[in-house]
Amino acid sequence: MSKITCKLCAHYCQLREGQSGICGVNENQNGTLTCKVYGYPSALHIDPIEKKPLYHFLPHTYTLSLGTVGCNMKCPFCQNWQISQTNEFSKEHFYSPQEIVKLALHHKCPSISYTYNEPTIFWPYAKDIATLAKEHGLKNIMVSNGFMSKELCEEIPRYIDAINIDIKSYDENYYKKALKGDLHVVLENARVLKQKGVHVEITTLCIPSIDAKQIHKIAQFIKEDLGEDTPWHLSAYHPDFKIKEGENTSRETLHQFFTIAKSYNLQNIYLGNVK
Ligand code: SF4
Repeated sequence: MSKITCKLCAHYCQLREGQSGICGVNENQNGTLTCKVYGYPSALHIDPIEKKPLYHFLPHTYTLSLGTVGCNMKCPFCQNWQISQTNEFSKEHFYSPQEIVKLALHHKCPSISYTYNEPTIFWPYAKDIATLAKEHGLKNIMVSNGFMSKELCEEIPRYIDAINIDIKSYDENYYKKALKGDLHVVLENARVLKQKGVHVEITTLCIPSIDAKQIHKIAQFIKEDLGEDTPWHLSAYHPDFKIKEGENTSRETLHQFFTIAKSYNLQNIYLGNVK
């Protein structure tokens, strides 16, 4: 039987009958691409929007936030690995898109966020919720690693109002080998989404392998391709998942990175997870 190609993310997995892709949650079932986590959030909470983090979109509001399991990248430092690096989930309660939107309205949340794990991989579910949410005047938010396919990146602006994209490194090899992503795809998607009018904020988790040289390059990219006013969250890292050793990002390192970012005239730089 012929393979089908999943076009949700830039891995473009080719799936034989019964086979799941790298994310572990999209599968070829009888010749149809099926998102197995559709309707089964692994986490569902009401969060301050600043926790996404988004600081320049609906500030001081709460957002109904949901994620499933699985991810299309394999970051060894993942801070949400318990849900992102598994494909096991409970089918105890099916949450229809109607039910999710009803919850957001009931709790007076002006937005719904697709977050916690990579929303690209549960896009069929997120899209159905977002469509209904829009009809009820709610905004839609993605928190993403930016490794969606070109096709999905073109589609997102029709549904999503704001996105926070991780730029995890500026080292192409590291992105490919250690994270199983692609730096150029992430940068291009951020550029396209900004151009198409989606509100974009960037996050960089300051893992030990990120150095001042890379911070210079990310700052330059933000300045030249996204604009000086683009919010950039420099977030402190703590050892997690496969990287158990090493230290939390120090205050000194974060402040050094902040100073570099400022030297590019970036106007909205924020330090996160600072103790
Ligand atoms: S979402 Fe990405 S990783 Fe998952 S099956 Fe589709 S192309 Fe593969």
